[in-house]
Amino acid sequence: AIILGIESSCDESAAALIGSDRTVLAHRLAGQEEAHKPYGGVVPEIAARAHVQVLTPLIEAALKDAGLVLDDVDAIAATAGPGLIGGVMVGLVTAKALAMAAGKPLIAVNHLEGHALSPRLADASLEFPYLLLLVSGGHCQILRVDGVGQYRRLATTIDDAAGEAFDKTAKILGLGYPGGPRVEALARQGDPKAVPLPRPLLGSAEPHFSFAGLKSAVLRAVQSGTHRPEDIAAGFQQAVVDCLVDRLERALSQSSSTHSPFVPSEVEGRDRKGSRMRPSTSLGNAENVETAFAGATPGKPKTLVVAGGVAANGAIRAALESLAARHDMGFVAPPLWLCTDNAAMIGWAGAERFALGLTDPLDLPARPRWPLDPEAEAARGAGV
Ligand code: ATP
Ligand code: MG
Ligand code: FE
Repeated sequence: AIILGIESSCDESAAALIGSDRTVLAHRLAGQEEAHKPYGGVVPEIAARAHVQVLTPLIEAALKDAGLVLDDVDAIAATAGPGLIGGVMVGLVTAKALAMAAGKPLIAVNHLEGHALSPRLADASLEFPYLLLLVSGGHCQILRVDGVGQYRRLATTIDDAAGEAFDKTAKILGLGYPGGPRVEALARQGDPKAVPLPRPLLGSAEPHFSFAGLKSAVLRAVQSGTHRPEDIAAGFQQAVVDCLVDRLERALSQSSSTHSPFVPSEVEGRDRKGSRMRPSTSLGNAENVETAFAGATPGKPKTLVVAGGVAANGAIRAALESLAARHDMGFVAPPLWLCTDNAAMIGWAGAERFALGLTDPLDLPARPRWPLDPEAEAARGAGV
């Protein structure tokens, strides 16, 4: 089958055509860096308007690249959440209009499921179950992926996401937005041991994350005026690496137990300007997510997988690869272009769902908040 994927949940507009045999027939991406630059972060209204302008031309260009017309497509998959509501609605409405016009099924994809399944587009040998570190601009989670729609969240962040920490550190260092790649580049010239920085929650009993204290320490280090920026960047990146590795070690040591008793209050899903997004009251296709099941096998995950924008970081990839080796696990990280937001991962998640007969009604609402593991989300507030 051939799936058209559409992504518009944050500041990347993207369209891709994906074959269920894992061929990327076409993928197009338009970032909005210039539009948001003056504000130092993503402005939701500007993002939504930009998606309106570029999405349809991107889809047309992708079809042309692939030498296809809309009628050749078997289904249309679009991000239906979580993300900035305006942008998500633009992509979802576009997908619905195309689905209606061409008489093709619609597949509503959870953006996080796009990240979570993207390693399977890159690596045909990656089988369920796997242990996933999902590290992106808005999320930092450890998940057990048992199948399509089968996600158990083992850990999350109690404050900032990993990508958010990179972006804030970049801002403090005056590197601009988006910060991840710039901090990584600067860190290469620095000494990771020169600036003492904290490793929040290191060694704590549950495998959760915290990065707010690290960001504050970076701010103090910059304000002290006694450190070189490249040393601060290197020290920050090393602290993040140490935290990710330590928390994954903890999750691995717990992975025989069936549930995580400690659930921190949910603070993810905020937009990049720091304000809370309106909670969605609709269940959308949550029923689908909970009942879908594919290829899940019981037992300990044999593969460590990393996905999301922060998975593009070379130091993090290297540390996770040796962590996996120490635990006799395989390691899979998608190519860099598949880590940050793109439509190929949405098309691929659509292909995985389409193969299971999971399509969605055309009146499906956008879901600005949409956890991968609704149970863990529902239990929020029970912990810290
Ligand atoms: P979410 O997926 O949680 O909704 P998002 O879609 O905005 O958030 P992604 O596009 O998956 O996030 O990832 C973007 C994040 O990845 C940014 O915070 C960016 O700084 C970070 N990032 C990108 N490249 C790197 C890198 N090389 N090193 C560290 N961080 C990086
Ligand atoms: Mg982005
Ligand atoms: Fe993302």
